Amino acid sequence: MIEDAPHPALPFNPLHAVLDKGLLKQCVHCGLCLDACPTYRLLGHEADSPRGRIFQVRQVYEGRISPDDRDFRTHIYACLDCRACQTACPSGVQYGQIVEAARAVAEPPRPAERTVARLVLGTVFTRKPLLEVLGFGARLYQRSGLQALVRRSGLLDAALPALGMIERQLAPVHGSLVRRPLPTVQPAIGARRLRVGLIEGCVMPQLFSDTNWATIRVLAVNGCEVVVPPAQGCCGALHAHTGDPDSARALARRNVDAFEPLDLDVIAVNAAGCGSALKEYGHLLAGDPAYAARAAAFAARVRDVSEVLASLDLLPPTQAVPLTVTYQDACHLAHGQGVRLQPRKVLGSIPGLKLVEMQESDTCCGSAGIYNLTHPDIAEPILKAKMQSIRATGAHTVVASNPGCSMQIAAGAQRYGPEDLQVVHVVELLDRAYGGAAAWRRARQRQTKRDANAP
Ligand code: SF4
Ligand code: SF4
Repeated sequence: MIEDAPHPALPFNPLHAVLDKGLLKQCVHCGLCLDACPTYRLLGHEADSPRGRIFQVRQVYEGRISPDDRDFRTHIYACLDCRACQTACPSGVQYGQIVEAARAVAEPPRPAERTVARLVLGTVFTRKPLLEVLGFGARLYQRSGLQALVRRSGLLDAALPALGMIERQLAPVHGSLVRRPLPTVQPAIGARRLRVGLIEGCVMPQLFSDTNWATIRVLAVNGCEVVVPPAQGCCGALHAHTGDPDSARALARRNVDAFEPLDLDVIAVNAAGCGSALKEYGHLLAGDPAYAARAAAFAARVRDVSEVLASLDLLPPTQAVPLTVTYQDACHLAHGQGVRLQPRKVLGSIPGLKLVEMQESDTCCGSAGIYNLTHPDIAEPILKAKMQSIRATGAHTVVASNPGCSMQIAAGAQRYGPEDLQVVHVVELLDRAYGGAAAWRRARQRQTKRDANAP
């Protein structure tokens, strides 16, 4: 029985305010989730398994241990929040909600995690101008050749190992040095079938702007009018995952305000972690009377871009893309949203493209938000195993639908090979099959002429 006991050192139990005890009761301790859990498989401790973590959260809920307990915090923050256990669980345990509630009442035990959470997530991701400055700096660092020089010299690793570790995660930037902003409204090519709001993201415009542009092009040529409201911002996923639900809620309110007045059919997103968080806005803002219903309505419209494309009768591609690729199921797309078939359906529509499935494609790559920075000792062997699965396919192109996975796998290729591995988003391959930016410009010119001649 779960008792509503207070915290042993406090007059109230803070977990009671953020977690529905019914979620804990759903776990029947069967252990069917254990083999799906990357940290349990690696560390071999029950305390680092989904069942073990739920048991510890229950201990806190019942007031038997304090949320300040160091062991509790260690095991809760050693979780990747990958949600593979949710897929494996026959009882439908909503593990993501449990671990995020636990983190909301327990401080990260590692200083690196506290620093990254406060400085990077609390400061940079909540302020667009700062993100722009850092994004430009990262692109300049790479494009100027300074990155190659720093890596060859090994100086950064020798002088500041922590910074060197962060630097190694910087993937090749997909886009120009000076960022070309997305249009506020991109009309559909041909008859309009859907009016789609696009989540631009925070990392995506800075490091993966080519992916955002490809997203706009493939949606527009398939009859979608794409609206990109400038008032939108970071989705708050990383804040929710790292125990800062207040910041996540503030960011969620900003996005609800930005998209609500636009009369959209769907809200598309091309980053799996963001999509999963956006679909949970109803839950995140359930306690806010001014936003609860609006957030639920927003969340109901959110779709991964592959879901939008797979729901349309796709324009047949004109060009072959003769590549052998393998697909990495991002945790927050496969486990968080149950989206597995749609990206594969889109890939299947591309002529000349061969998809070779990798072993355990839906096992985490070790990126997990900022986990690869805060827990490199656990993330690295997980990444190494992922790279082994990728190499076994013989593919030199990995398709991934999340910027964290893309950066992690690109960094893994540099350390474990294959060195010529490319990591691309599914929309970039579809865009290539439509002829890319050049074909897009011609299509827009034809559309402009048609509009001018229309009665
Ligand atoms: S979310 Fe992932 S790492 Fe955490 S308990 Fe579940 S399977 Fe294990
Ligand atoms: S989380 Fe689900 S699969 Fe894991 S022990 Fe509990 S009931 Fe079983």
